[in-house]
Amino acid sequence: MKNYSNETARNSNRNSIITAFTIWIIFLSMGAFWYFKTGRRFFIFDLPYIGSSIALGILLGAVLPKRFKHYGRRVTQLLVGIYMLCILGFVMKVNMQIESFFFYALAGAIGGAIIHYLPAKLLGPAVFSRGFCGWACWTAMVLDFLPWKTPRNGRYKYLGIIRYIHFILSFILVAFLFFTLSYFPDNGTIEVLAWLSAGNVFYYSAAVLLAYLFRDNRAFCKYLCPIPVLQKITARFSVFKIKIDLSKCIDCGLCERKCPMNIRLLEYSHAGKRILSTECILCNICVEVCPKHAVDISSGFDFGFQEYINFKKRQ
Ligand code: SF4
Ligand code: SF4
Ligand code: SF4
Repeated sequence: MKNYSNETARNSNRNSIITAFTIWIIFLSMGAFWYFKTGRRFFIFDLPYIGSSIALGILLGAVLPKRFKHYGRRVTQLLVGIYMLCILGFVMKVNMQIESFFFYALAGAIGGAIIHYLPAKLLGPAVFSRGFCGWACWTAMVLDFLPWKTPRNGRYKYLGIIRYIHFILSFILVAFLFFTLSYFPDNGTIEVLAWLSAGNVFYYSAAVLLAYLFRDNRAFCKYLCPIPVLQKITARFSVFKIKIDLSKCIDCGLCERKCPMNIRLLEYSHAGKRILSTECILCNICVEVCPKHAVDISSGFDFGFQEYINFKKRQ
């Protein structure tokens, strides 16, 4: 039995190493594409740096002993999150918040936000689901240091609608400024710094406050952040999703209890499905905690329309 388990772990590590290498190549190729398209040498550094950071985290997760594996993802979060927020944001004055995406989309222009949103939040989730939220978000990079990593209760069923309201209000604000005042805060200007600062002060303070109130590090992601509204459109078709091998699973429930997004993993596995939920952030926590190595990332194609979420029970 022990050898069987070790063999499974070895296979899982080998898959992770192949995934890391594939991601690295994809980001290198994207860097080359944008360089040839725009002629900007910046892209020779930017996308390869992000790809290398992700590949490094996955590699660390594969080779580190079990109790240290989670540091792989944390390393990636910090490398990518600090780079995006501090270097791209505050030093180069490129705003990648959703309002900037709306401004550039309405103007029909290609800017940092468009180049970021296409792979990370619009098209990319069709391949790697909401992996951005698990591995690269600069807000979650801080949230994941807070002490409420495992939500004690289920989710509040209807609070998630606030994410959609937030999304619509942000769009209305940008459309109003753009169409009625012809306002457009271009990257590299002091105005962008103001948007960036105001946006991040709001996001960080709201995110930490919600985490404290709900005793849940990811409460902001579940109830207030507007980004999943976009990601969830394509994430349901994601090629990479979590899968449980029922022949190894002993139904201990640990993966479900540790899932930071309250996903009912076993309901999917008992129905013979991969984890179809668009709430999955591919954080790998379920993979790392499973005592039987029954959970892994798998590739495939399915229509992920079922959302099995553990909601808070009425008192
Ligand atoms: S839901 Fe929003 S705050 Fe949470 S990880 Fe995703 S982008 Fe970041
Ligand atoms: S942690 Fe592993 S063994 Fe336990 S229920 Fe989840 S998949 Fe099954
Ligand atoms: S299902 Fe697994 S990978 Fe997805 S959010 Fe939950 S713990 Fe993370």
